Amino acid sequence: MPADYHTHTPLCHHASGEPEKYVDAALAAGLREFGISDHAPVGHGYFDDWRMLYDDLPRYFDWIQRARDHAAGRLPIRAGLECDWFPDCDAWIEHLRGLQPWDYLIGSVHYLGDWDFDNPRHLSRWDQRNVDEVWSLYWKEYAAMAESQLFEILGHPDLVKKFCHRPDGDLGRFYEPAIEAIAVSGAAIELNTAGWHKPCAEAYPCLEFLELARAAGIPLVISSDAHAPGEAARDFSRAIELAKAAGYRETVLLDRGVKTVELLE
Ligand code: ZN
Ligand code: FE
Ligand code: FE
Ligand code: ZN
Repeated sequence: MPADYHTHTPLCHHASGEPEKYVDAALAAGLREFGISDHAPVGHGYFDDWRMLYDDLPRYFDWIQRARDHAAGRLPIRAGLECDWFPDCDAWIEHLRGLQPWDYLIGSVHYLGDWDFDNPRHLSRWDQRNVDEVWSLYWKEYAAMAESQLFEILGHPDLVKKFCHRPDGDLGRFYEPAIEAIAVSGAAIELNTAGWHKPCAEAYPCLEFLELARAAGIPLVISSDAHAPGEAARDFSRAIELAKAAGYRETVLLDRGVKTVELLE
């Protein structure tokens, strides 16, 4: 099984479990490596209620250490963060990067302006928006995130479909400019299995996006986005089949930012 690099901790206020339980689940699934990437703080103070606070970072480092202690050499434990992309977030991300020898930072577009569009509590805001415009804005931000070169991994590429909002017609017009920007950036994308458990009932990204990514030579990781130990490595067999259907033969591993290739079995 490939690595699972996208997993959360209770410090983000909407995940559960102990580090030992996540590691046990990762070992049981036969994962190659396990990575922790909780929702990073945005600024030094409070910023919405679904991420860790800056002042909790020492507790986060302890959590990672507990996972390492429990793994005790049986499984490499990687350290990362899932960071929110905002225009002009560069200085903040560089600050976070300097806090630890991270193995990777994941960049995710969860916000369009002040709207965390994937938050079910703000679902009604979709009603006031034109789906085509939201998609255009989302993919413009996704490409800008790639161009920023701030992240080793770009998270859940087509998250904007989470609640089944999709423009009419061929969606390739949205994907292609983003694919181009990602390919130039050298970042990896993730095949995030959590989408199968959301209203869209489809992995992030869809097969068409994965095929374009493969053709453009974009590296891939497979991620569960686990918010509970039982979700670690969830649907990885299904994800491997999807990756292979798109033409992928390998995923990448990340050790202090250095990529190596792991063949898909
Ligand atoms: Zn989360
Ligand atoms: Fe996310
Ligand atoms: Fe996540
Ligand atoms: Zn995520």
